[in-house]
Amino acid sequence: MLYLELAKIYESLEKTSKRLEKTFILSKFFKKISKKEARDLAYLAKGKIFADWNEEVVGVSTQLTIKAISKATGISEEKIVKDWRKIGDLGKVAESSIEKKKQKTLLSGRLTTQKVIDNLRKATKLEGSGTVERKLALVAELLTVSKPIEARYVIRTLLEELRIGVAEGTIRDAIVWAAFDKKLDITYNKKKNDISLDEKQREEYNRYVDIVQGAYDRSNDFGLVLEAALEGEKELQKIKLSPERPVKVELCLKVDSISEGFKRVGTPAEIELKYDGFRMLIHKFKGKITIYTRRLENVTKQFPEVVEYVKNQIKGENFILDSEAVGFNPKNKEYRPFQEISQRIKRKYEIDKLKKELPVEVNIFDCIYYNNRDLIKTPFRERRRLIEKIIKEIPWKLKLAERVVTDNEDKAEKFYKEALKRKMEGIIMKNLNSFYQPGSRVGTWVKFKPVQEPFELAIVGAEWGTGKRGGWLSSFIVACRHEGHILEIGKVGTGVKEKSEQGLSFGELTKILKPLIIGEKGRTVKIKPKIIVEVGYQEIQKSPTYKSGFALRFPRIIKLRHDKGIDDVHSLTEIKKRYTSQK
Ligand code: AMP
Repeated sequence: MLYLELAKIYESLEKTSKRLEKTFILSKFFKKISKKEARDLAYLAKGKIFADWNEEVVGVSTQLTIKAISKATGISEEKIVKDWRKIGDLGKVAESSIEKKKQKTLLSGRLTTQKVIDNLRKATKLEGSGTVERKLALVAELLTVSKPIEARYVIRTLLEELRIGVAEGTIRDAIVWAAFDKKLDITYNKKKNDISLDEKQREEYNRYVDIVQGAYDRSNDFGLVLEAALEGEKELQKIKLSPERPVKVELCLKVDSISEGFKRVGTPAEIELKYDGFRMLIHKFKGKITIYTRRLENVTKQFPEVVEYVKNQIKGENFILDSEAVGFNPKNKEYRPFQEISQRIKRKYEIDKLKKELPVEVNIFDCIYYNNRDLIKTPFRERRRLIEKIIKEIPWKLKLAERVVTDNEDKAEKFYKEALKRKMEGIIMKNLNSFYQPGSRVGTWVKFKPVQEPFELAIVGAEWGTGKRGGWLSSFIVACRHEGHILEIGKVGTGVKEKSEQGLSFGELTKILKPLIIGEKGRTVKIKPKIIVEVGYQEIQKSPTYKSGFALRFPRIIKLRHDKGIDDVHSLTEIKKRYTSQK
């Protein structure tokens, strides 16, 4: 297919904010593509070149992209950077640069989707010397034959920021409309932005949505799902969970009290420690152990000791286990917060040293595939029983998540208090009869953890945003007070809204902060400390990054405090006090 055709689809998707209209546009597109192309085009529709579970990345930096645009258009890198700062979207910059280019090639407009996929896939495979130049050449080659609008989307795909507002649910629905429209008789009324289905049709529609969603949950591969859907319902049912590829993990809803937790998950409930570590999905397939994070990154190489524990301590031909790995201090055997061991996920060298200094204990809490059997629809209590049977526990290496099963609030409260004493983040309450729900927060698992009073902090710096946030200050450096000085304690963007109707917006904050800018370096600006914001957070941590020596975990701006001045800002002493009490 010509890439131009796809670029036009992207553009019409980008132009509308209506989800139903997006679904309609995409479904029309899916309906007319050939089966041969279905897989790759489904990836491209999501702004990807592989299935979601595939971890290969194109690995082209913005710097290299700028070079490629410059190479393909003859426009200087400085000019491109300048435009980028103004517009905040390299895709649009590439588009206007191609527009300005004097010499058009005869091939412009002949770019195919296959060529885009081929070049970008080639880039993922490159390694060794000359990689950067070869990547540059692959990207520049695409841009040289691109029409302006094609350049916009080639660049965005490459940078993994398609910005057409197509979420996973939209792709899923578009597949339903495309594959089952004859059975469902869907007609989209653009004026009313409506698909009028009667109750019976709606029921049938939801059934197909569940089938497509189920196939996606089991495979994490919209390409595979679209291909199968175009063949029919039976093919979709044939897509099975496989320990060969990672699955999206089930997520938790937050509750504000234990009684609310019981209301959500029912009684009796399983109450587990909420370990302050990171999610580990453990797969065994054809004798090989693979470990994935919740974002489906393969981290097997980083955790050779876990591979050993799994080999030695867990019975089974093949399986998928869900767990939380938590760090501990090897000397005093105390759990430590995630922050202190987070480098183990990313660092790929000195593994032996890291594994000794920053050991982890794996706490298994679920099994969703075992010896060729998909257990997603097996009730949780049976899945728990299974892990109890197949795992040989060794403390500080591999264990079952600690738990109580109860319907008694006092007992649950006691377990929770004990959890906090042992440096856990809180508890997770689970419905004993529930199925495993990949990728969703449906409330069969809920988390309960202590809330912290917010801090009042001064904004002392910010960064100019990119993309949708271009032209706005979008990430704010906040600071506390210490003996007449202002000391940075973190960076926060969460909590600020894109639209002013939704609350404090980036536009509003930018307007207030712009006149206070006292220095600029690259995209970062220094701001006179006059604006005070209330900042919520989950935890205070020690941090060498900021002058205060502390950082806030999961900070979010709650509101502007026009009523407060610099003297009202929290002091370092108060922050230290709260840090100690949280321990
Ligand atoms: P949150 O990241 O605050 O949404 O909390 C959910 C996360 O808690 C999960 O994704 C897991 O990584 C983690 N977690 C820790 N202990 C457990 C447990 N016993 N069961 C499920 N998730 C857990």
